[in-house]
Formats: sequence, C-alpha cells, structure tokens
Amino acid sequence: MGYVFDPPPQVSLPVVGTDDRFPVHRVYCVGRNYAEHAREMGHDPDREPPFFFQKNPDNLDTSGEFPYPMASEDVHWEIEMVAALKAGGTHIKAENALECVFGYGVALDMTRRDLQGVAKKAGRPWEVGKAFERSAPCTPLVAAAEIGHPAEGAIWLDVNGERRQEGNLNQLIWSVPEQIEYLSSLFELRPGDLILTGTPAGVSACKRGDKMVGHVDGLPELNVTVV
Ligand code: MN
Repeated sequence: MGYVFDPPPQVSLPVVGTDDRFPVHRVYCVGRNYAEHAREMGHDPDREPPFFFQKNPDNLDTSGEFPYPMASEDVHWEIEMVAALKAGGTHIKAENALECVFGYGVALDMTRRDLQGVAKKAGRPWEVGKAFERSAPCTPLVAAAEIGHPAEGAIWLDVNGERRQEGNLNQLIWSVPEQIEYLSSLFELRPGDLILTGTPAGVSACKRGDKMVGHVDGLPELNVTVV
C-alpha cells in the first residue's frame, strides 16, 4: 500500500539531554487559567469549569522565529508552561494524573486577537484566532524525571527587555493534574498530547522585530523574534 502523496512528517519536539524526540499527537490549550488574565479579558475568574481549545500539532515551531501572520493586525503573545504526556486514557483521576506526564516546556500561544474577538462575538469557533501556522513557538522539553513536576515558580515574558507578563505557577486556577482529569473526561488522552496550561496577565500585541524571552523557573528559556 502506498499513499496518494507523501505523508507529512511526524511533528516532534527535542528533549533536553537526549537525541530522542517527543512525538506530538494533539495540542490542547486551556483558556483563562490565571485570575488576573481572566480579568484583563473581561471575565470573572471565579472557578468555573475549565475550557479548552486545540491548536494543530504542526503549529508548533522551535525555530526561534515567529513570522507575523496574515489576516491580522492584532497578534498577541501568551506565555505558557507546557505539560507533555507520555501516557493517556479516559477518566484519569487528578491524584494519578502526574504519572501520565513525561515532562515540561515553555511555549507561546500566539493569538490573532482581532479574529478571535470576531469569533467570540459571533459565537464561532476560535481556530482562526488560535490555530494558524507557527502559532505555537516552543522550547525543547525537559523530562519530569530530571526536574520533577513544577507546581510553583515564576513564569514571565520579556519583550525587548521589558517585563510584560508575570505570574507564578501556583496561581493556576486549574492545576496540571486537574486539567488532565477534566480533559480526560472529554477526550481520550494519548501519549504525545501537549497541554498549554494558560497564561498570566499582560497579554498584548507584538510587532515585527520584537524580541520575546519567555521563562518558567527550571525550564529552558524561550527566545523568539517576530519577523
Ligand atoms: Mn493561551
């Protein structure tokens, strides 16, 4: 059996300290998971159930460059910690969820905020705002076997040397285990799934030439230039 055209390559991420790569299955992203960010987006951060959207696996990008996308004039940064799953299943309990996590990384959930705003107003899906080409710049992953499971620590984004986003992982409204529990009640999670765990306050528009440096304590630094 052949294919009618060459199949696309398996999307994968480097893993720090090894030549082996992490093969990516799906990319889940949680919305409004830091209270200050929920407020800046005009929402009450009371603990309503979490909600998720997806990016496409091939939106991931480790090149260090973010090409300003077409069809938007308001592209926002959102710095996030990434949890990468090595095991999955359905109806995973929070107390067992960390056994599914291979490791962690740092990503930007780049967002065409103008298109997302139109979609929100019209009650339409968010893909046009979220799931565009190269919309998820990402670092290599670090294995939890090396660093454990970060539940607190600084998360920040500098743009052109100025601190623009700042928070702490202990401010996550829904923790990583709780996100896995909730997601696995909706989807069958699989090895290779990534979860972008939410962004702290300070989202704003980027422009060509911006140098973004994303940081989560204990994880690789994310360096991305908007081109
Ligand atoms: Mn986000």
